[in-house]
Amino acid sequence: MAAPRDLPGRPAAPGRAIGPAFRAEERPVPAPGAPGEGDARAALEAAVALAVAELGELAARSDAESAGILDFQIELLLDGELTAPAFARIERGEAAALAWAGAMGAHIDTLATDGDAFALRAADLADLRSRVLDALAGRTRADFPDGAVYVGRDMPPSVFLAHDWSKGGAVALAAGSPASHVAILARARGVPMVVGLGGLSVGNGDRLLVDGTQGVVRLHPEERLDAPPPDLAVRAPAALLGGQAGGARLFANIDTLADLDALDPASVAGIGLVRTEFLLAEAAEALDEERHLAAYRRIVERMDGRPVTLRMLDLGGDKALPGLVAGDPGSVLGARGVRFLLAHPDLARLQARALIRAAALGPVSVLLPMVTLPQELSAMAALFDEEAARLARQGVPGRRPPLGIMVEVPAAALTLDLFAEAAFFSVGTNDLVQYLAAAARDNPAVAHLHAGAEAAMFRLLDTIATAARAAGRPVSVCGDLAGDPAAVGRLVALGLRELSLAPSRLGAVRAALQGLTGGAPG
Ligand code: PEP
Ligand code: MG
Repeated sequence: MAAPRDLPGRPAAPGRAIGPAFRAEERPVPAPGAPGEGDARAALEAAVALAVAELGELAARSDAESAGILDFQIELLLDGELTAPAFARIERGEAAALAWAGAMGAHIDTLATDGDAFALRAADLADLRSRVLDALAGRTRADFPDGAVYVGRDMPPSVFLAHDWSKGGAVALAAGSPASHVAILARARGVPMVVGLGGLSVGNGDRLLVDGTQGVVRLHPEERLDAPPPDLAVRAPAALLGGQAGGARLFANIDTLADLDALDPASVAGIGLVRTEFLLAEAAEALDEERHLAAYRRIVERMDGRPVTLRMLDLGGDKALPGLVAGDPGSVLGARGVRFLLAHPDLARLQARALIRAAALGPVSVLLPMVTLPQELSAMAALFDEEAARLARQGVPGRRPPLGIMVEVPAAALTLDLFAEAAFFSVGTNDLVQYLAAAARDNPAVAHLHAGAEAAMFRLLDTIATAARAAGRPVSVCGDLAGDPAAVGRLVALGLRELSLAPSRLGAVRAALQGLTGGAPG
């Protein structure tokens, strides 16, 4: 048997797990910008062909009546008239999934106004819209065996989210960074992760122990771990009741419904950040208003009257939606967040409608990611007003939610007084520090600059807190700094008293804040 060997890296998510290595295929880094029109056309053609093949197989296994319906759906998909508008949208530069969803949505809307006789056909089209979107996502998503250790250069958040971690497993990355989105997800889900391992000579199936606490990967370990797979139920101690701690109010960040289920609602003052791009991690979900609403309804109902802040899709950068947005870490300075949404108003309107409907169910606020200029907020506010009016005309219950902005772009952070329309501010320290220090959050070679820029960061946080106070607007911190026990005392001292953090950090932050005020934990 081969001797054990330790490979040093950096800790990114605590915990230990053993499993066989799964070596992820190295894919070429996509060129900056949107995927080419040719790629999008080919992707949609392949997805339609896959959907036709799936329907054919289903029809062959079905009774005569069901087969008739499925054959009708196949005919629809093969009908050039149905698919032409989607290809026309691709020619105008839209991504494949967005083009397909938009074109099919337009078909469905037309049928809906044509009366009951067409309602059945609309249902077929809705079914086809989802099937082709699933096919588009499936072609780009590659899962790996349960309990395996994912070994790769880096890991796209969408691949992490598509995997079932309840059976154990871990992540070992040659590059990567503890500040990346996938590391945030791993910490929230209790999946051990080590990054920055450099050249990793590990074979597929080699037994690995990943120690995400120490930041070490052991090749051919002799030990066995008896610990059960990660417990997703990260329950906060009862001492957290109400989310009050040492002069601060503690809120939770939620990335997935598993995080929500694991959270004791009484342990926090509310939800300060829902990263909806992780909640609706597939194009078929992100392009379906009802699926947005269903997810938001679950959160609002579970929080039972406590405030819930839902952030609009923060796509772009390393956050991909397979079939809709390619993961492109090079675009962190590009069309991310609100910029992407304003460039894709169909998607923004769809999400706005679901958010307006969710706001009728409880105290929901909406956060806009990556805002740079007041005009971006005004444009989104106008879009919300229009959609709220449209829903009211249609007799659909809704409430126009207050809109706040993420403070994570230095240009916005320095000009909060100009954002008169913002109902509240939420500081995204993860992005703010990367843009402030010009050091990408997923690049280990420059990670030391984040800590190095601490003085600049705290000066800017002081400016932000002062400006928010002067404007009479609530301000919270929802980046990872709010979950750092060594930093929270300074945040509170600056007047940043609303902290939103991963549920797994609540205990440590509570203890740190109580230590500061001399309060007895408990
Ligand atoms: C941040 O940037 O600090 C933040 C909370 O948003 P995200 O980590 O999703 O970019
Ligand atoms: Mg951010």
